[in-house]
Amino acid sequence: MSLEELLNMDEKAKIKFMNTLGRKVEIFVPINKKEIKMYTCGPTVYSRAHIGNMRAYIFADIVRRVLEYGGYKVKQVMNITDVGHLTSDADEGEDKLQKSAREQKTTAWEISKKYTTQFLDDASKLNIQPVHVLCKATDHIPEQIKLIKKLEQKGFTYTTSDGVYYDTSKFPRYGDLAKLDIRGLQAGKRIRVGGKRNKTDFALWKFSKTGERRDMEWNSPWGKGFPGWHLECSAMSMKYLGETFDIHTGGIDHIPIHHTNEIAQSEGATGRKFVNYWLHSDFLVMSDQEKMSKSLGNVVNLGTLEEKGIDPLAYRYLCLGAHYRKRLLFGEEILKNASNTFNRLKGKFLELKENVGDVQLGEMESQIGRKYLDSFRSSVFNDLNTPQALAVMWEMLGDNEISNFDKYRLLLNFDNVSGLKLDKIQPEKIEVDREIYQLLKKREDARQDRNWKKADKLRGEIYNSGFIIEDTPEGPRLKKR
Ligand code: AMP
Ligand code: ZN
Repeated sequence: MSLEELLNMDEKAKIKFMNTLGRKVEIFVPINKKEIKMYTCGPTVYSRAHIGNMRAYIFADIVRRVLEYGGYKVKQVMNITDVGHLTSDADEGEDKLQKSAREQKTTAWEISKKYTTQFLDDASKLNIQPVHVLCKATDHIPEQIKLIKKLEQKGFTYTTSDGVYYDTSKFPRYGDLAKLDIRGLQAGKRIRVGGKRNKTDFALWKFSKTGERRDMEWNSPWGKGFPGWHLECSAMSMKYLGETFDIHTGGIDHIPIHHTNEIAQSEGATGRKFVNYWLHSDFLVMSDQEKMSKSLGNVVNLGTLEEKGIDPLAYRYLCLGAHYRKRLLFGEEILKNASNTFNRLKGKFLELKENVGDVQLGEMESQIGRKYLDSFRSSVFNDLNTPQALAVMWEMLGDNEISNFDKYRLLLNFDNVSGLKLDKIQPEKIEVDREIYQLLKKREDARQDRNWKKADKLRGEIYNSGFIIEDTPEGPRLKKR
């Protein structure tokens, strides 16, 4: 987009993001406004993702929805890490999938299949839109080997007894994303850390150890083994989105290692800028301020919520209530409150739907309706300020100046970003005793006979049994009191 076009853009259509690269809120300028290219670091499929992990994917989904809401077409790619992610980020320890396979007495392939399916199922329950390309590391071994060869030709690699490593001292911009003081870490001197030349060097290819059982290993020009964790994201993102693309998302823990290494690999190989906008979401923490993580043993997954009768979308609602760059505090009480508020929203929506009936939605013409639409748009376009957007929504619902019709269509409009599936909500089916049903029938008969006194008395009896009657054009309807 040219500067001229950008200046001509409607102020409210200008989407702004906090770019981790430079730590500034910037107006989003796409490389090609016809299609935004976006990459999301996906899960390591060695166990079921916890709700903290899922926050990172809800966040990525909202980035995409906001772009689409702003009128852009988006191509989103997400990886599935099914090999090479070791138990320690320092290229040591066991492969997470192999470890899980050992514990569950199966193969790493089976583990990958099981938890990929589980992840997609959880993502769907949270109404995270399916990505356009979902790619597995194990399906892209030739691409990863090719990338190492390129880096080797350019002199970025060296081989140890353990694998092929990236020499970070050869990449001057190493650490820019994380604002790491690399000179302090490397200081030009060669530190020997487990065969590495520099502390920040990382594995591109790891050799299978003799006597080690590995379900996943491949031949390579350097020896039999498997790719380092960071490599897949560089190889696959560039394959599907090009050498330079618009947006890359992930959790904040990826800034200092995983994403820093992705930049070093990709820019080292191509000599071009890898990604224009880096967006990172903060952690979900337990009430005691501890990060939710498997190693701390405090994980809650979507299944845990469902067992408690909590709608997964209530968790999505909770995520919307906190800005993505802030920690999201989680606990029983917090979840219960979010669930109650979400239920209130669903009830409100149904009430409006019934009131409005089946009508064409059309353009928003009322001035007050436009005012709320604009406030919502500027909130979400302002670095995804979803808490503010929710506040706008509740203010709109409580505003007596605005018609039910406008309220209804604004809710549907807002839901393109919120993704709470309001349009799919069905009225709760209630169990009614035969006795109450008969009272209702008697009241109908009394009304037919224009015996209003009797009809009112019966209404009172039904009320005392816990139900309210709503008379609609289709006949009477019962609601729980
Ligand atoms: P992993 O499957 O371990 O590669 O992590 C998947 C995603 O979850 C990454 O983007 C992490 O940054 C993110 N993540 C891990 N723990 C948390 C947490 N407690 N809260 C929010 N995001 C998290
Ligand atoms: Zn990644």
